[in-house]
Amino acid sequence: MALTGLEIYKNLPKTNCGDCNFPTCMAFAMQLAAKRTSLDQCPHVSEEAKATLAEASAPPMRLIKIGKDKNPLEIGQETVLFRHQEKFHRPTGIAIKLKDNLREGEIDKEVEKINGLKFTRVGEEISINLIAIEHTTTGAEEYARLVGKVKEKSNFPLILISPKPEIMEAALGVSSEGNPLIYAANKENYEGMASLAKKYRCPLCVEGKDLEELAERTGEIKKLGIEDIVLSIDSDRAMDTLQDLTRSRRLALEKKFRPLGYPTITFTTEKDSFQEVGQATTYICKYGGILVIEGKKKWQILPLLTVRQNIYTDPQVPNAVEAKLYEIGGVSSNSPVIVTTNFSLTYFTVEGEVTNSKIPTYISVVETEGLGVLNAYAGDKWSAEKIGKTLEEQKVKEKVGHNSIIIPGLVAVFRAELEEDFGWKVLVGPEEAARIPVFLKNEWKVN
Ligand code: SF4
Repeated sequence: MALTGLEIYKNLPKTNCGDCNFPTCMAFAMQLAAKRTSLDQCPHVSEEAKATLAEASAPPMRLIKIGKDKNPLEIGQETVLFRHQEKFHRPTGIAIKLKDNLREGEIDKEVEKINGLKFTRVGEEISINLIAIEHTTTGAEEYARLVGKVKEKSNFPLILISPKPEIMEAALGVSSEGNPLIYAANKENYEGMASLAKKYRCPLCVEGKDLEELAERTGEIKKLGIEDIVLSIDSDRAMDTLQDLTRSRRLALEKKFRPLGYPTITFTTEKDSFQEVGQATTYICKYGGILVIEGKKKWQILPLLTVRQNIYTDPQVPNAVEAKLYEIGGVSSNSPVIVTTNFSLTYFTVEGEVTNSKIPTYISVVETEGLGVLNAYAGDKWSAEKIGKTLEEQKVKEKVGHNSIIIPGLVAVFRAELEEDFGWKVLVGPEEAARIPVFLKNEWKVN
């Protein structure tokens, strides 16, 4: 358990010197207990007290790094149970699992497929993060060869899966400089696995039949000198896994229960491809640090990356693009002008459809504090007057040789004012962005 302010105070020098920028040692102790400052801000604390107080200043969930130079992944050090309390900090790492029964010719194809699981959404590159390689039947040498080959063909960090320390050591021999994650230490093998984690300085997953056993095992492994631990939360029933993911997060953050103060790894178990995506989505939402999935079709992965992107955006920061005049394609003075809001999702959806239409177009983005079309209208964040002034500021009339603009169908009500007060000829566009290509093709003409 973390120390209270009073317990921390007992370990401080009690001189009230103010060198920590707090007026008294008690004030500093209270802030440290609330994790609003760090112990190194007091230059006078003794080494003995430091050891005692390290507990209080440590985050309730440890930060774990997997991989090194090219695509390292950080998980853990989360601070809240619910996104609206602050934000979730480190997006779930998504790993694709390969088994060692792949034939020689299949390995390249599979890894190439995995390397291609990258997409652009809302202006951001999104992709999977890791490749997990499971040992099933091969010998140590063959498994190590497969691991070496995958490492050579892909930049993603690896998760090595085998309960046998001798197999794991062979794989670490060819991959340890990439800081792979070792999966996993259990009741039978934990000493051997801990010794490998120490020797190769790699993070280690820990298994237990339930949270109690898991907590016991992390304690044993910590005593063996291993700090970088990932909790394997993995049950046959999705409901049990979900409960354990939730309980471990609660215990770590709310109760400051150190033996479970680590990020988690979990696996999908559903055999049906659709069900697997559903199960994976659940674990991304609550509270998978790493999710290992077998499915690697694009239609399975894109929804998972989308969910993750949504869950891990900061709810306190408007998801907005810069309000300005965007040129899509090789625009000319005859190009259409579409007006929209600066909510990222709205802008990138419109931009995507304009690109699909292959008709070079100006998009005039109006500042709406990151709200979409209807929300901005309901919240009084945009109006015909604001659009008119924005078009003037963006000097749209100087760019085009016509007098027409296209406004979203959902705010057709702006039309009359824009025409009467600002002199535009207004075309009311579709209500849904998906219909923009057809609209531009059939309705747009220079006036
Ligand atoms: S610097 Fe240390 S000794 Fe001085 S007031 Fe702060 S906590 Fe107390």
